[in-house]
Amino acid sequence: MTISPDNPIRPFWLAGRPATGETELTVTNSHDGRVVGVHAVPTEEQVEEALDAAHAVRKQAAALPIHVRAEALAHVSRRLAERSDEIARVISGENGKPIFWARGEVSRAVATFRFAAEETRRFSGDVQRLDTEPAAQGRLAYVTRVPYGPVLAITPFNFPLNLVAHKVAPAIAVGAPIIVKPAPATPLSALLLGEILAETDLPEGMFSILPVPNDRAGSLVEDPRLPVVSFTGSGPVGYAIIDRVPRKHVTLELGGNAAAVVLADADLDWAAGRIALFSNYQAGQSCIAVQRVIVEDTIADAFTGKLVAAVGGLVTGDPGDEKTQVGPLVSVQAAERVEAWVAEAVDAGARVLAGGTRDGATVAPTVLADVPAGAKVVCEEVFGPVLVIQRVSGVDEAFAAVNDSRYGLQAGVFTRSLDTAFRANRELEVGGVIIGDVPSYRADQMPYGGVKESGVGREGLRSAMADLTYEKVMVITGL
Ligand code: NAD
Repeated sequence: MTISPDNPIRPFWLAGRPATGETELTVTNSHDGRVVGVHAVPTEEQVEEALDAAHAVRKQAAALPIHVRAEALAHVSRRLAERSDEIARVISGENGKPIFWARGEVSRAVATFRFAAEETRRFSGDVQRLDTEPAAQGRLAYVTRVPYGPVLAITPFNFPLNLVAHKVAPAIAVGAPIIVKPAPATPLSALLLGEILAETDLPEGMFSILPVPNDRAGSLVEDPRLPVVSFTGSGPVGYAIIDRVPRKHVTLELGGNAAAVVLADADLDWAAGRIALFSNYQAGQSCIAVQRVIVEDTIADAFTGKLVAAVGGLVTGDPGDEKTQVGPLVSVQAAERVEAWVAEAVDAGARVLAGGTRDGATVAPTVLADVPAGAKVVCEEVFGPVLVIQRVSGVDEAFAAVNDSRYGLQAGVFTRSLDTAFRANRELEVGGVIIGDVPSYRADQMPYGGVKESGVGREGLRSAMADLTYEKVMVITGL
């Protein structure tokens, strides 16, 4: 790719303004290796400037009138919708995500900003009479929510727009300045979002988007001007952040090895279709992609036949093709790792019912049976298009199998029984139980996050807004 007026070096965003540094980085497509963009990299001095600006604006940001925040958020939502085709192509190019799914991601980001615009109007304090006790007679508590301060958002490659939206939208909604450090493989859609944010009336310093390499992210994490770190990514990086800054307010949205339970009373065609699609969407690179399917013995053969047929019907190929459902992984190295994990399972006795092959960065949708319990494809997060079938005798064993994991993000349960649904909700050790669908279901306004090693804290608009703020109480005496 040559740099030209039509194909410029994309600036980063420094305190709401476009800026270029002294160096650039290129972003490539994992399907064909072509360069899809070049972006400027901030210098240390420019990072300092962005941090100073976020710190300086924090009080003005917290006092921003609600209508100003709501209008800015609504503007971003509208402009993302207007530019959706262009942005979807950028996401597909940098991430390797099929264009169909990239369009879906833009629609979700449109909704994420729209929900934030609505929620900021509802996000208010509370007044509590304290005279419920004789000792508090004549007193009133006036409760407001106050942002902790400027937020450092660190985001992964797999949803390069919507997971940035999940941090930027609630921060603006509560009046907190934000510094985004996007994933090095996929910074371009975040930088495009910066163009739209810069069209708003938000004060200078309210946002910066700083695509610095990983070896410079640590100093951002430690910087005292950023009291909040909101991280989405892998466990080792996330927990290293907590170790590094144990006194900061840190939210971690981490990985998983999500399970779907298929019980004997389920609609097997629906379950097979949904599980086939959502173990392979984004080539399995979603924290809630179905990795384990736990199926009752009595229906296991019938279900497995339907599942393998549905997986075989998925269209794999060029992410730019409108018909493609399964594209490449983010890199050839990522695909080689998945291939090695499948080989390890097969060496230990697993049977390959579908896929099991790799071509460059693309791994064929893979279904494995008879996998030994200790294999990485069962215990670890595969983050690739690999599904492991586990047979169980009934509900007790099924729920125990779901919980037999160090992760706990979401679980899906295909059943038509309300009793079983409520039992699942009581017994499954996860942040979200999805009845009648895959664990991969997420509506952007609902609370979202994990237990165990899947994370700390919650996202989803209202939950994220609560997470970025603390309750402050003023007691009024003498009433
Ligand atoms: P990753 O942990 O490699 O990187 C995530 C972010 O951390 C990137 O921006 C990266 O540049 C940055 N980073 C890397 N080293 C750092 C350091 N030393 N200090 C500070 N930041 C650093 O994750 P990834 O490969 O981009 O994404 C995949 C992971 O994200 C998977 O584990 C997936 O499950 C998880 N994920 C979780 C959710 C969720 O909401 N729970 C959503 C999407 C992805």
